[in-house]
Amino acid sequence: MMGTPVIGVLALQGDVREHLTALAAAGAAARPVRRPEELDELDGLVLPGGESTTMSKLATLFGMLEPLRERIGSGLPVYGTCAGMIMLADKILDPRSGQGTFGGIDMIVRRNAFGRQNESFEAAVEIPEIDGGPVEGVFIRAPWVESVGARVQVLAEHGGHIVAVRQGRVLATSFHPELTGDHRVHRYFADMVRDAQ
Ligand code: GLN
Repeated sequence: MMGTPVIGVLALQGDVREHLTALAAAGAAARPVRRPEELDELDGLVLPGGESTTMSKLATLFGMLEPLRERIGSGLPVYGTCAGMIMLADKILDPRSGQGTFGGIDMIVRRNAFGRQNESFEAAVEIPEIDGGPVEGVFIRAPWVESVGARVQVLAEHGGHIVAVRQGRVLATSFHPELTGDHRVHRYFADMVRDAQ
């Protein structure tokens, strides 16, 4: 029997509530997380979309940057969407000054890569790992993945650019599955968390 994993959503900034709802629908016990001590109670963690510069500043302010780097390094399953994807990149192509990341995926991301004229769009994204047809991808000033290291699995591309990746227990998408009623990506992550238990 599969248990109910406890999955936190980093609640410093961004679309926390939508992820809590999607995780609950995917069969997880979901809760917002703000403090380092709360990380001990988690089987997995989601980094929401929002604004990565702000998220980075708040993570430093709340003393979360180092503890989260350590957790990810020691195998805590994490899923980042959009700004959360940026926070999981080992390197940002065009960081604002002082913009730090948690890291965890050997990739270089380009912020706001899909451009101003297209600040927001939806597109069907084929993810071969996920059954049931393409996922509706909501892209909001989304990053893309410029390049990946050998250990990174590319899960999906859109318009010739990498938009979903996985490295071991760390998952990231440029788009926001939490904004649609389709919870397959959250279910995929919940399964990753269960597999790690
Ligand atoms: N462009 C934002 C950033 O750089 C990300 C946007 C989003 O999360 N929807 O953080």
